[in-house]
Amino acid sequence: MTVDADRLRKLIEAMAQSIFAHADELTALDQAIGDGDHGLNMKRGFEAILRDVDPAAAPLPDTLKSIGMTLVMSVGGASGPLFGTLFMTLGKELPPAPSRDDVVRAGEAAIAAIKARGKSEVGQKTMLDVLRPALDAFAASEDVVQAANQAAEATVPMKAMRGRASFLGERSIGHMDPGARSSALLIAAATDTLGRS
Ligand code: ADP
Ligand code: MG
Repeated sequence: MTVDADRLRKLIEAMAQSIFAHADELTALDQAIGDGDHGLNMKRGFEAILRDVDPAAAPLPDTLKSIGMTLVMSVGGASGPLFGTLFMTLGKELPPAPSRDDVVRAGEAAIAAIKARGKSEVGQKTMLDVLRPALDAFAASEDVVQAANQAAEATVPMKAMRGRASFLGERSIGHMDPGARSSALLIAAATDTLGRS
């Protein structure tokens, strides 16, 4: 798959627009089990990306690294470094014109890097609970967007074991994890722009 400057621009815009359109929802999710800043955090991050990352300046890997670094620098909270790690690792691992196998390999590396950074595992009610099943669906040529949305829904009955939501213990049960929801939004936006194969 060749991702030229035009596609990179569309990818960045699609992810940013989806985050902007859902910022209030992400905030409401984080109000329920966190500190209510997730919508604002993600919005600030993607505003900085639109401002600072030039999709025509570099090929896919370097642009992904720039997106990741911009998230780390502009977003406070847990999610900035974790989403930053996701994009930076994809940038480090993907070649300029990735194959399907390249995407699976880079996705595995990104999940491993998030786990290391967050000291977290799948099943703890975080973004990982969407990224893991979405990558499995992609590897199996299944519907990635459906898998991501179902996985975000599946965080509702989970008990949070990492991040601020874990402070609530049992009371975190019954709400969708905000980072799981934003992960599903980003996956849907990327799939819309880049296609499903
Ligand atoms: P903060 O928790 O600092 O207020 P945000 O509200 O922006 O940051 O992001 C919260 C989201 O970050 C959570 O919903 C969860 O998905 C993700 N998250 C938090 N801590 C971790 C962790 N240790 N590992 C993986 N994801 C995490
Ligand atoms: Mg928060």
